[in-house]
Amino acid sequence: MRLTQDLKLKERSFFASSSIRLLLGRTVASIDRQKKRVILDRPDSTEGEDYDRLVIATGSSRQVPNIPGSNKKGLLKLFSLEEAEEVKKNVRNSNSAIVIGSGPVAAVVSEQLSGMKIKTTLVSEARLLQGMLDRNVSSLVTSILMEEGVDVITGKKVKNFVGFDKIQCIVLDGRCLLQTLSS
Ligand SMILES: Cc1cc2nc3c(=O)[nH]c(=O)nc-3n(C[C@H](O)[C@H](O)[C@H](O)COP(=O)(O)OP(=O)(O)OC[C@H]3O[C@@H](n4cnc5c(N)ncnc54)[C@H](O)[C@@H]3O)c2cc1C
Repeated sequence: MRLTQDLKLKERSFFASSSIRLLLGRTVASIDRQKKRVILDRPDSTEGEDYDRLVIATGSSRQVPNIPGSNKKGLLKLFSLEEAEEVKKNVRNSNSAIVIGSGPVAAVVSEQLSGMKIKTTLVSEARLLQGMLDRNVSSLVTSILMEEGVDVITGKKVKNFVGFDKIQCIVLDGRCLLQTLSS
């Protein structure tokens, strides 16, 4: 299993030689803009760092649609490296998978799963990569995925997940259409 540290882009020495003081595993808990100081780890902490200029580059956070039935087993989310490992572990003995999404991650994961001989269906409310590509290139990506064996369903919204403790199918257009990840 590849660990997060195996994927680091720069060695510690890079930061030292670039006059960058690197503080890993620390959280900025609050910012005192009057004093131009960030407070580390706890808002009431006395430990912090002074700044002249502050750049906030804290990244994005996941968005998980609130689809009824999301609490059932069989639903995997994919945002972090740990979750990617979890998906990999779960699909190992599976015959089929449904991927919900329309961005690059959904497209790449679908292609990868299909390449692993898993019957893959990609369900997307929008056309694929709508925010990034024009209609023609988006269609091209859809065609390539279909050539790779992915069943692409666009323009459909997943209404809910059905099953007892484990998801058995997803509801599209009022019909329980597809069987999900199964071994
Ligand atoms: C599943 C997935 C696959 C992706 N695949 C690709 C790809 O193949 N190619 C590509 O170009 N992009 C890909 N991306 C997008 C890419 O990961 C992001 O665009 C990129 O990581 C954004 O970098 P960033 O520095 O803005 O934010 P991030 O990489 O999110 O870094 C922000 C950092 O800030 C830290 N942070 C947040 N709050 C605090 C705080 N209060 N105190 C201290 N630290 C804090 C976080 O812990 C995090 O380490 C992918 C994204 C996902 C989710």
